[in-house]
Amino acid sequence: MTIPQSEAGAVLTIDLAALAANYRAIVGMGGGVATAAVVKADAYGLGIERAGPALAGAGCTTFFVAHLSEAKRLRAALPAATVYVLNGLFGAALDTYTAHDIRPVLGSREDVEIFAAHCETVGRRLPAAIHVDTGMNRLGLDLAEAALLAEPGANALAFEPALLMSHFACADEPGHPLTARQIDRFQQIRGLFPGIPGSLANSAGCTLPAARHDLMRPGVALYGARYVAGRDPLAPVVTLEAPIVQVRSVRVGDTVGYGAAWTAGRNSRIAVVSVGYADGYLRQAGSTDRKTGAPMRVNGVLCQPAGRVSMDLIAIDVTDAGAVAAGDTATLIGDGIGVDDVAEAAGTIGYEILTSLGRRYHRRYTG
Ligand SMILES: *Cc1c(COP(=O)(O)O)cnc(C)c1O
Repeated sequence: MTIPQSEAGAVLTIDLAALAANYRAIVGMGGGVATAAVVKADAYGLGIERAGPALAGAGCTTFFVAHLSEAKRLRAALPAATVYVLNGLFGAALDTYTAHDIRPVLGSREDVEIFAAHCETVGRRLPAAIHVDTGMNRLGLDLAEAALLAEPGANALAFEPALLMSHFACADEPGHPLTARQIDRFQQIRGLFPGIPGSLANSAGCTLPAARHDLMRPGVALYGARYVAGRDPLAPVVTLEAPIVQVRSVRVGDTVGYGAAWTAGRNSRIAVVSVGYADGYLRQAGSTDRKTGAPMRVNGVLCQPAGRVSMDLIAIDVTDAGAVAAGDTATLIGDGIGVDDVAEAAGTIGYEILTSLGRRYHRRYTG
């Protein structure tokens, strides 16, 4: 459901051409290694039905989602794609995998046993990925369990092991010693499963040649957020613009917003926009007398929130932005303001800003 612009508080623009360009940039970075796309959580909040086909148009043929419900949505949009569900088996729904040609990522011994039994029941060696843990300690078989699975007796696996994968815990911090250990362990585990394609790299891992293996799995970098500390993100994909609904004057010493947490240090002009934390614009991105907030641009000038972010509204200090009137546009993301800038002000990461993007915006797809 798309909300008409005239009824929405703000406009979210998603640049599908930038998304496709980012995909191609990562393919180029990998120097020929096959590159999947992670489109879990509604393509990191951008809309899986639009992002999936845009990525497919850029040459992507393999996709990863977290939930089976997401896989079904992607399958409806992309009948020919290879689709993996990262979070393991949704046990009661085995027939759904088969009916929609969706591949589970088997992340535990139980997953493996249940899926193998399912394959025996349907009488087909269905494809699945095997997830091995190399140090994240979240999902995945441990080394001993993987070794057991690789033993000669288990060789005639009832399912088709189409991919061997693992996941980094901190590849986004260059030089973190756990990353090197995970690369070594994955190499070791791959030795147990000769001939099965391997996949280790998330976005950050795509920058590490030893992590690329046969299939890279970038997510956040595609969507224009920072993926390695200290490194520029790829092209921005998201713009969030809100019309100013009202402009008012406050006098020095007046406070603005809930908690009277922001005090005007001078006579000020305050512009109000219809965006708030109910739209995923995190409350922590606001400002108080002690803390600056996320940057916002009005009339080309970088401004600051005046006070806390409300549920549905943000007040912006536009005193330095020249003549500002109701109907003018405030840019909250875009025009030099990255999702990471908002994230930093809110004490979080770009991933959370993207996946929080609200459902009340008028969504516009370009490119
Ligand atoms: C989310 C996820 C990715 C993508 O990670 P990014 O850091 O967004 O590139 C890759 N693999 C797995 C298993 C994931 O859960």
